[in-house]
Amino acid sequence: MKHLAILGSTGSIGHSTLSICESFPDRYHPIALAAGSNLDVAFSQCERWRPQVVSLATEELAAELQTRLKAAAITGVEVVHGTAGTIHVATLPSVDFVVSAIVGVAGLEATYAAICSGKTIGLANKECLVAAGELIIAAAKRHNVALLPIDSEHNAVHQAMRGGTPAEVRQIWLTASGGPFRNTPLTDFAQITPQQALKHPTWVMGQRITIDSATMMNKGFEVIEACRLFDLPPERVRVTVHPQSTIHSLVEFQDGSILAQLSVTDMRLPILYALSYPERVAVSETDALTFDLATLAQLDFAPPDPKRFPCLRLAYEAAASGGQASIALNASDEIAVAAFLAGELTFQGIPRTIERVLELTPANRPSSIQEVLAADQAARACAQEVLRSGPPARQAASIRA
Ligand code: NAD
Ligand code: MG
Repeated sequence: MKHLAILGSTGSIGHSTLSICESFPDRYHPIALAAGSNLDVAFSQCERWRPQVVSLATEELAAELQTRLKAAAITGVEVVHGTAGTIHVATLPSVDFVVSAIVGVAGLEATYAAICSGKTIGLANKECLVAAGELIIAAAKRHNVALLPIDSEHNAVHQAMRGGTPAEVRQIWLTASGGPFRNTPLTDFAQITPQQALKHPTWVMGQRITIDSATMMNKGFEVIEACRLFDLPPERVRVTVHPQSTIHSLVEFQDGSILAQLSVTDMRLPILYALSYPERVAVSETDALTFDLATLAQLDFAPPDPKRFPCLRLAYEAAASGGQASIALNASDEIAVAAFLAGELTFQGIPRTIERVLELTPANRPSSIQEVLAADQAARACAQEVLRSGPPARQAASIRA
């Protein structure tokens, strides 16, 4: 039996992880949950799973949950809060495996603490690797901790990598669905609304990652994530648009062979792979997780269009610079996406804001998580300033960190 901590238990990946726990009750049991601000879901997860610890975003929410647990006569659940609470969940001694699925750098400190306390990590939170990949990979090596990717493309690469040694890899190919605007004429981009951008053609996910998929910044983050996880330079991490999302990614070896991983588009699969690695767990043939190869009609591939998706270019540039550039890429994207969702910024304003913030970002290389968080804050402030003072392309602001 593996005892799990789930950071981000109330989100999309959190739900999928708990669904795997439902399907395999003899193998996986959640004992610690970090639930963020969603009190109702946190309460029902406590009712269902009776975790040893649950953490909420604030002291007020934690007090409210305690009251509700008491009224329902649910005992034995320790309720904690804030960053210290999330770290407590991530480092609980009886936890064997930590699923890192908080969105954004909010999950960074707890993920880092889990690595430093020797936990095996199932990593969904890609923003952690974008902002602090060098530090995270170094800590994982130092503590001899396995970082098992849950992000479907990296999970596919992890699987295909088992077909050769790292030295035998020529390059990897990350597949991208192309999002909802793959074929939208560029002239219509100025009118794109949040409702249109929130409709992903193949995956159902949280809001931030769905907008990031529409701009292809998600793929850009995944390029950086792949560089860090598989120790490859950006030019050996390629992107191909594959609208069916059937192949989740491919590894090309020195001898010309290319290994691909195919499966249904359901995040429970990469989660199950990470939880069970190095074993493979059987799913029933009638289960929605099996893929019927006989129904496969067509696999299409095309290069991404740099005019439609400037975020991808910005991410490649940040991947090559590393350090503060990739921190600023993530932080400014988070601010710009929130402004777009609030109706305060156009769809095309997202890459323009990020590009301006990157121009204003110094080429520093943080050497601790605290320095990463300080650089993240500075980049957010810079992005807010860029947004406040009008058209991003003509701003003058400064950034300090
Ligand atoms: P989501 O928005 O559905 O869920 C986010 C979770 O984080 C929620 O439980 C929320 O309560 C929690 N959270 C947010 N801020 C917090 C804070 N300050 N403190 C504590 N908890 C906080 O997001 P998601 O789609 O589940 O994605 C989670 C992560 O996984 C992201 O990094 C995303 O890029 C990555 N990911 C998701 C998918 C997917 O299919 N959903 C696929 C690949 C990677
Ligand atoms: Mg992905």
